Amino acid sequence: SYQKTELVKSEHLPPAMYNIYKRPLLLHQGHMQWLYDHDGRRYLDLFGGIVTVSVGHCHPKVVGALQDQINTLWHCTNIYRHPKIYEYVETLVSKFPGDLKVVYLVNSGSEANDLATVLAKAYTGNLDVVSLQSSYHGYSSSLMGLTATQSYRMPLPVPPGFYHTMLPDPYRGIWGGCRDSLSQVAGACACPGDCVTADKYIHQLNELLENSIPAGRLAALFAESIQGVNGTVQFPKGYLKKAHQLVKKYGGLYVADEVQTGFGRTGDAFWGFENHGVVPDIVTMAKGIGNGFPMAAVVTTKEIAAAHAKATYFNTFGGNPMAAAVGQAVLEVIEEEELQKNCKEIGAYFVEQLVQLQAVHPVIGDVRGKGLMLGIEFVKPGTKDALPVAEVSEIHENMKDLGVLIGRGGRWSNVLRIKPPMCVNKQDVDFTVTVLDQAIKEYLN
Ligand code: PMP
Repeated sequence: SYQKTELVKSEHLPPAMYNIYKRPLLLHQGHMQWLYDHDGRRYLDLFGGIVTVSVGHCHPKVVGALQDQINTLWHCTNIYRHPKIYEYVETLVSKFPGDLKVVYLVNSGSEANDLATVLAKAYTGNLDVVSLQSSYHGYSSSLMGLTATQSYRMPLPVPPGFYHTMLPDPYRGIWGGCRDSLSQVAGACACPGDCVTADKYIHQLNELLENSIPAGRLAALFAESIQGVNGTVQFPKGYLKKAHQLVKKYGGLYVADEVQTGFGRTGDAFWGFENHGVVPDIVTMAKGIGNGFPMAAVVTTKEIAAAHAKATYFNTFGGNPMAAAVGQAVLEVIEEEELQKNCKEIGAYFVEQLVQLQAVHPVIGDVRGKGLMLGIEFVKPGTKDALPVAEVSEIHENMKDLGVLIGRGGRWSNVLRIKPPMCVNKQDVDFTVTVLDQAIKEYLN
């Protein structure tokens, strides 16, 4: 049998495959917000397999639904129908506002965003797509352009037809950023007049649409409602609403990537875009939709789906009976266990505790986020310069050794990301804050 280090170093795995810890961690079991390694050591999971374990590892209701389906029918492809798919799409569309009534079931977030570009192009007849700087929307040869972060694309260039607009980052905005990103997002910051605002970024987006993209060529703008991989970046109040209006004026659609922000995680709303008072033309979702079961979806209007109906659409695994059964159980658990409400309450408590810790440790430059989608940005004290990666890694690794698995992200990998199963409680928050405090102290010593 393999030793831990041999497995992690296996020459049969691609060298580009990224490993989050220097000291290897082999996970064997999960139960709700807890994970167990091969020695039986327990960890609080604050990353949820990257925002994917939405209702809890091996949640009994989801396991039960999958077991029932496994014993009934696994697969038939979308050239046939099975009863679970009808039940599921009906439940899923009931969660959407406006005319968002048609569901495509696919298998991953990348596939969902790929399909959304096809739908937007088919409907508008245009080919150019805009996304925000530092975004991550997936990994495929066409999404190499939609994902604006160069490190995922190396050594390839941005493919033709993709443009990136400036990221409206309240903490690190190029116009100096805000002293207090949480108040800026709420539209209540008390900074002087030169503080970052939505309007400056809207002006820049307008420039891009007017001067860089040939007239009549815009198919869509893709945006998350909180930028996830790039370290939980929230946008200044009003940005998404104005961006939506602008894109419409130039003939494009607005695609909301809800891969991380969906399914109640932001607390105040089921979908992140709802926090911004906008209704997108297309919504993509994955990760939390299946609590770890590989599935994803694109939801759009009947009108947009009709424009795509000229094509023959086929997907071998999309909407398979197991995925539909799991997806249905996940939606029921979110409702029955009031997990959206839990995200709101526990998220607010988390921010409160982290802000208190920030006052003690000037290495914490910014605490931000909404619900159970939070970020803690590390800086060189007294500046906004990112704390070097090796130093953040030390804090991150210390937390693991003390029993908490937390995410990493941001342009300089200096942001710790909190996106746990949505069932975490106050004791978990207290435990995390104690562990983070200890992990920082160990790093400082
Ligand atoms: N969109 C966002 C916002 C994501 O965070 C991710 C994955 N990190 C994707 C799309 C792609 O999802 P997948 O890995 O399932 O293809």
